[in-house]
Amino acid sequence: MTRGPIMNKPELLAPAGNLEKLKFAIQYGANAVYIGGQSLGLRANADNFSFAEMKEATDFAHHHGAKVFVATNIIAHNEDLHEVDQFMKNIEKAGIDAIIVADPALIERTKQAAPSVELHLSTQQSTTSWPSVQFWKEEGVSRVVLAREVSLQEIREIKKHVDIEIETFIHGAMCIAYSGRCVLSNHFTARDSNRGGCSQSCRWQYDMFSELQEWERNDTPFTMSSKDLCMIEHLPELIDAGVDSFKIEGRMKSIHYVATVTNQYRRAIDAYCANPDQYVFKKEWLEEISKAAHRSMTTGFFYGTPDEKDLLYIEREDFPAFDFAGLVLDYDEEKQIVTLQQRNKISIGDTVEFFGPTMERFTWKVEQMWNEKDETINTAPHAMMTVKMKLERPVKANDMMRKQK
Ligand code: SF4
Repeated sequence: MTRGPIMNKPELLAPAGNLEKLKFAIQYGANAVYIGGQSLGLRANADNFSFAEMKEATDFAHHHGAKVFVATNIIAHNEDLHEVDQFMKNIEKAGIDAIIVADPALIERTKQAAPSVELHLSTQQSTTSWPSVQFWKEEGVSRVVLAREVSLQEIREIKKHVDIEIETFIHGAMCIAYSGRCVLSNHFTARDSNRGGCSQSCRWQYDMFSELQEWERNDTPFTMSSKDLCMIEHLPELIDAGVDSFKIEGRMKSIHYVATVTNQYRRAIDAYCANPDQYVFKKEWLEEISKAAHRSMTTGFFYGTPDEKDLLYIEREDFPAFDFAGLVLDYDEEKQIVTLQQRNKISIGDTVEFFGPTMERFTWKVEQMWNEKDETINTAPHAMMTVKMKLERPVKANDMMRKQK
């Protein structure tokens, strides 16, 4: 029997480290974004949002039919709980759609202080079974973000047993521990990974010694890091398993990364849901992601326990590849001139690539450029400077230009 289009598409949930990233994530296809407030979140080093910025974020998102969630997923100590009630009230006032929360104390306090805000249980709670999901449902959460260590088969079983929204990570960095169960950073740098301070100690380079203190390797340092998760080739199985929300990791990542990755998942989800029987995975979706991603990729725990192929172990595989070179501000169709905000050095002779949320990417050789005063220039070296460039193919504001390194 042939299947028609899938009407109930899963949500695509993107990270937004600041307002600019939030706007790009939504314009490039996210149905929802998650942000951090100025306390109670796990990314102390991200820009994080004031309450006024949260209000601007929800106004923009709701206008575009998208939602905003706030990550308040620390494991709280007594001192962290002093201002929770006011914090949650302010979140509610800013129009935030849901908070992502791990600590039972925060769940209880939020229910009292901000009853209209939905509660999403964070992956920090390491939920891996349907009875646990059932437990949290009874506690009043409307969605569970499963542990990254859950397999595809386990997701199917969870969806079969419990009627609740299920969210899974589909892309981005992985912890080498159950998220929230790691204190490497606390020990090595006195920064609490469960209170927003993770120093990513698992990604450092280590020398290895045997029990006899002999140096095991003197050529390549050892790292404990996992490859990054990437499930774009496996979306049909995740959609068919009933996952309600697909989450991309990376609130610290650039707008180039967020826009690129979000948009490729948008294209893949839309293509599958429009016609599941005729769906064909396009390898250019993965190629595009590789232009912004910085590590090798893995399917994590979805198909079983990862082995040595899924870990970086002895190499740091920083590759790509492309630099975000410019943001399109305007395009003059008559004169065929694009105005750009420079994000990385551009010079005459460079081969660049334009891409956007709805256009098909194309490459272009830079032959003529001008500065803001319309003076001819050979290179645009200054970050954020305005550059004009001859471009014979039309682009739109907020399309992007990248350059191969
Ligand atoms: S040190 Fe690594 S494994 Fe530990 S919390 Fe940080 S990212 Fe996760």
